[in-house]
Amino acid sequence: MRMTKEARGPWRVWQGDYCVIGFNEVTRDVKVNNFPGRFEANTDESSDEIDAGLGAALDKFIYSQVTDQAVAEIMAIVTDYLIGAKRRGSIREVLPHYEHDCDGCIFLGRSSSTLMDLWFCEQPDGPFPTVIARWGSAPEENKSGLLIAMTGQDEELFEGLKLAVASGLFMGREHVLRRMGASEAVEGMLQAS
Ligand SMILES: [Zn+2]
Repeated sequence: MRMTKEARGPWRVWQGDYCVIGFNEVTRDVKVNNFPGRFEANTDESSDEIDAGLGAALDKFIYSQVTDQAVAEIMAIVTDYLIGAKRRGSIREVLPHYEHDCDGCIFLGRSSSTLMDLWFCEQPDGPFPTVIARWGSAPEENKSGLLIAMTGQDEELFEGLKLAVASGLFMGREHVLRRMGASEAVEGMLQAS
């Protein structure tokens, strides 16, 4: 199982193939997010079942200590559950329709009305992460931009941004500030405003 770990603001984030786990070092909150755009329930009923089933499977964990081993166990539970549900036919996996040219991107799902492929990219070499919407396999058949996504003026990029937030990949202002290397003073100023 692929798993990466990094710090985003006060969050320690582990990213696996089927879920993202965040642990807030300050508040001790734990978030377990799967990728809501990557699986579709075959009926509304099975959608509720999935949430309940995953919740029950994860209930046995006590999250006061989040170790790499606990994270690996949580990820295994989520993966087993989703693969099991897929096998039972209660959900189907949504896959990208077009070729994409970045290995670092994470597939978020497809836009609901226009069926573009939506991707999230941490862009380690760029100033901050971005979301991408792709309507074809040619390199130029895509649009991207975190700031335009945040304005809500581009339907697909906004949808991608919402999925990136829901899956725990994008953590808002703290995430951007950390990536930009903003000082704590700037962060404090923004929080006060
Ligand atoms: Zn990328």
